[in-house]
Amino acid sequence: MSFISQIFGDSNQQCLDEIQPLVERVNELEKEFEVFSDEQLKDKTKEFRKRLSKDETLDDLLPEAFAAVREASRRAIGLRHFDAQILGGIVLYRGKIAEMKTGEGKTLAATLAAYLNALGGGGVHIVTVNDYLAKRDTNWMGAVYHALGLKVGCIVHDRAYLYEPAVVDKNEVTVEMQNLKEVPRKAAYEADITHGTNNEFGFDYLRDNMVYDLSQMAQRGHSFAIVDEVDSILIDEARTPLIISTPDAESTKLYETFTKVIPRLQENTDYNIDEKMKAATLTDDGIEKVEKIMGIDIYGEGSVRYAHQLEEALRAHVLFKRDRDYIVKDGEVIIVDEFTGRLMFGRRYSGGLHQAIEAKEGVRVQQESRTLATITFQNYFRMYKKLAGMTGTAYTNAEEFSQVYKLEVVVVPTNKPMIRTDSPDRIYRTEHGKFIAVAQDIKERHEKGQPVLVGTVSIERNELLSALLKKEGVSHQVLNAKNHEKEAQIISQAGSLGAVTVATNMAGRGVDIILGGRVDDDAGDKLSDWRKTHDKIVELGGLCVMGTERHEARRIDNQLRGRSGRQGDPGSSQFFVSMEDDLMRIFGSDKIKRMMEALNVPEDQPIENKMISKAIESAQGKIEGYNFDIRKHVLEYDDVMNKQRETIYRKRKEILLSSDSSRQQADPPTPHVVDRLSAADGVTGDSAADGSFEENKKNLSLKAQILGMVKNEIKRIVDFHAPEDYYDNWNLKEVSEIANAIFGVSDEGKNKIKEFKDKNELVAHLNELAEAKYSEKENQLGAENMRGAEKAILLRTIDMLWMDHLDNMDHLRDSVRLRAYGQRDPLVEYKNEGHKMFQQLLQAIQGQVAAMIYKVEIQQSMATSANQPMRLNRDETVGGGLSGGNQTGRNDPCPCGSGKKYKKCHGK
Ligand code: ADP
Ligand code: MG
Repeated sequence: MSFISQIFGDSNQQCLDEIQPLVERVNELEKEFEVFSDEQLKDKTKEFRKRLSKDETLDDLLPEAFAAVREASRRAIGLRHFDAQILGGIVLYRGKIAEMKTGEGKTLAATLAAYLNALGGGGVHIVTVNDYLAKRDTNWMGAVYHALGLKVGCIVHDRAYLYEPAVVDKNEVTVEMQNLKEVPRKAAYEADITHGTNNEFGFDYLRDNMVYDLSQMAQRGHSFAIVDEVDSILIDEARTPLIISTPDAESTKLYETFTKVIPRLQENTDYNIDEKMKAATLTDDGIEKVEKIMGIDIYGEGSVRYAHQLEEALRAHVLFKRDRDYIVKDGEVIIVDEFTGRLMFGRRYSGGLHQAIEAKEGVRVQQESRTLATITFQNYFRMYKKLAGMTGTAYTNAEEFSQVYKLEVVVVPTNKPMIRTDSPDRIYRTEHGKFIAVAQDIKERHEKGQPVLVGTVSIERNELLSALLKKEGVSHQVLNAKNHEKEAQIISQAGSLGAVTVATNMAGRGVDIILGGRVDDDAGDKLSDWRKTHDKIVELGGLCVMGTERHEARRIDNQLRGRSGRQGDPGSSQFFVSMEDDLMRIFGSDKIKRMMEALNVPEDQPIENKMISKAIESAQGKIEGYNFDIRKHVLEYDDVMNKQRETIYRKRKEILLSSDSSRQQADPPTPHVVDRLSAADGVTGDSAADGSFEENKKNLSLKAQILGMVKNEIKRIVDFHAPEDYYDNWNLKEVSEIANAIFGVSDEGKNKIKEFKDKNELVAHLNELAEAKYSEKENQLGAENMRGAEKAILLRTIDMLWMDHLDNMDHLRDSVRLRAYGQRDPLVEYKNEGHKMFQQLLQAIQGQVAAMIYKVEIQQSMATSANQPMRLNRDETVGGGLSGGNQTGRNDPCPCGSGKKYKKCHGK
């Protein structure tokens, strides 16, 4: 044990020791709770809430609340929380990460912390990795919460549910999910506890900040979240931000052109590949060649776009491989998550890479998209007042959790001792030899009846192994990202007698593997059969897990191992490695390669060598560090944007609140509004920026806010054209013309403006004019229309300019990367420039609003449009966050704005 882990181990033990008395307290209460009637148990929730509203805290209530949940669970679903689960529940309640091995029952452990926090009323979000698990857990744990009188909701990709035992939806194939009633999203969020996927929570947040009326907001704040499989969500997925986008009508042709050029280039002379950095760069020769072929000037002025697209085309060709990094299905390029092997439906590589790959694969190149809203998971989850997580594998990334999320990892001991045997790696000279050996080993075990679960790193290897097994006559199930739908079902049977399951790395994460396979509760006779099989499998050594390659991260290897040996089951794990594996090829030292050759072992002979094993681990360590750096880097950049996003979203929310009619009537605000207000407070920080964007502490009406902007604008104009001390240089003619342009001034009025000698008086005069004109406008339109116009102009201006700003920030990011060659720190440049651009954005919003408000005319659409703008964007993007194809009807107006029908314009 290293020095560090000793220290870590000690502090972990300390933490557990400190929690232990609480566990005992919960145990002591068990007798007391056992005798309650169901009704009495349910009433406990009311009692707790009452006590909470007096002078007790959640901490005070913990032992009783946990005892109540344990009792409710025993009655409702027949599971009594183990002590280890109580321990885990306390860790979660305290906002930490509970590392609990696979099969320890994290789902049930989470009910304790979720219930206790839900008593506070802020809403608890339980986050999982896919829709299946979200629904399963809602339905399964819903019964426990229901027994305690709590409401449980669930949000998945295109639907939302409430747990409702009276409902039995026979359309759901699995019994596990039949008690879910479909409801609007908002209702699912209003429940005490809401299950859902990380994607959906994130997208709902972004969508909520695009709405035009408070009533359309789904979420009610970010109080407490428990993230299941937390390493997968906060680490593996952290590199890809969530993006809601809409197709950009310009340019896709270029990708198709470039993709034809790339194959004519040669590695080393025309371009360089750096596999370690995942980078490809064109050389001067290469660029010249492309320019010649195409007859264009790639890096010439004004052709930034060429250079960018050409680079992406190159990367698409030389760094991204079909069936490893992505698959092509139904004419679409779908990303394969490199860690989980899952298909990331709807996610697109950013910056044009996706289009470049589409061009390379000869499928339809989707239009480049324009970002409407974006956030990283890091920044989404950091919004929660309290955050907790659980997973079987967190320990190796404890440092990252602590640095990025301020989350401490506590390793919770297993309920029963773990008896799985993990054998040392078998190392082969060639990949071919390795796979032959794997197939052989599987065959032998299979013939005896031992279930085997094989993990492969990519779909490609997955299929390779499957072919080998077929040749050997071993029947097996293949589970890769291509048949994700059946994932859970297949994995749940991976422990059956003689089952061979070939899966990509973490397929089926979260699904329980029971030795002997799954049985239904009411199986009766079948149950004794099952027991016989179960015992036989135990005799054979339980589930054998095989890894066909070491992954870049030790954590992922551990995750695979963890599929075996759950709840004290026997089991074993074995990794097979070859010198040709990517990990060894790219990161292994030359010394080892030479040594392997010198040894001259036959290709299907394994060796076990300390030095090589060490080399593997050190390579993994290196890559882990490297990937951590990349993620930190993403975050550092996103932090800049995050501050800006918070400011803009806060402003939007204020506008919605100011214009909310229910709120104007009901003062003091309704509880819901209070919730939202405090949610907004949670995200503010120190980002209040410009005069016009100061926090609206006084709850100004929209009219007052806009007049404030107009006055700021007047002040700015006067300051500019009438500088202090330079009376001679004053240009009041210009001031009068601008004033005229903004709110209309008569000739007489203009002359008057030109005669001012005192700046303050001039400003005061202009302000008066602005107010008078405003009243005039309001009289002309009617108060109600005016309010509608105010809201629409504010929101639309902010949205439009903010989206432009997102684009600009994207470009800025690219351009600072280039500047790095000039010895300047790109991040510092990005921060500085980004700050300037944001100030400009705020000023532009102010100027635009001031200019537009006086020009509103009564148009039927004005007042109503506030409720339904941005349809185009949302319809095409909701949910998957992708530019989901082109859904414009052939006879609709073309989205490019030409005014022609789509079929006569871009839809030709
Ligand atoms: P994890 O998420 O930790 O891998 P799950 O929550 O999926 O584990 O639970 C694994 C299995 O353990 C489930 O089949 C569940 O029914 C069972 N289980 C969980 N808690 C208990 C308990 N207290 N008593 C008996 N079985 C339990
Ligand atoms: Mg789980």
